[in-house]
Amino acid sequence: MAEAAIAAGRPPESVSILPVTKGFPSEKLRDIVDAGFQAVGENRVGEAEAKRDLIPDLDVSYHMIGHLQRNKAATAIRVFDRIDSVDSVRLARRLDTVGASSERPAIPVLVQVNASGETSKGGLPIDDAVGTIRSICELDGLRVQGLMTMAPIDADDRRLHEIFGSVRTCLELCREHIAGFEGSELSMGMSGDFEIAIAEGATQVRLGTVLLGERR
Ligand SMILES: *Cc1c(COP(=O)(O)O)cnc(C)c1O
Repeated sequence: MAEAAIAAGRPPESVSILPVTKGFPSEKLRDIVDAGFQAVGENRVGEAEAKRDLIPDLDVSYHMIGHLQRNKAATAIRVFDRIDSVDSVRLARRLDTVGASSERPAIPVLVQVNASGETSKGGLPIDDAVGTIRSICELDGLRVQGLMTMAPIDADDRRLHEIFGSVRTCLELCREHIAGFEGSELSMGMSGDFEIAIAEGATQVRLGTVLLGERR
């Protein structure tokens, strides 16, 4: 990861790793924290909730990186410290409402955008994302910290540059066109494509396999 940052002319500290612990048992989270990480990514509410209950004393932040159903919003804001996969205004509104009723401070979120047009990938279509992100930013109960994306696994390098580059451009447009927008996080890149994501400006890469081994 540091090599990829240096090759892109960026300081290695400008990119963080989010270890993705889905499919791994809770003991793995202890190892990860012992190794110096402060946050992990999980893609299911129930699995993350079970791990939190098993290791309640562990000082680690949980990030939701999978599709979140609106009927699980209330549990999700109890279990997760940040929702990195807000992919619709309806979900954002639901989080805003359940957050307000539990009187918690604004919920940190990333907005997930879909830059590949692949329908199996979640996220707001990137072409008109800025207007939608503006509506999400108007909700007092959420604090939009940046954008998240997933690229198709079969994309070649050129296409990956295009996809990640367009997400970086989208973040720049948000900063330019949405009053008060302060998001700066770009969560993009996984085991198979993180070097290209870093070359295109990722500030956080989500690593499972390459960091922790194969999932069961
Ligand atoms: C599983 C997952 C990852 C990590 O995938 P690896 O290829 O194992 O690094 C990253 N992001 C999301 C959203 C995931 O679901």
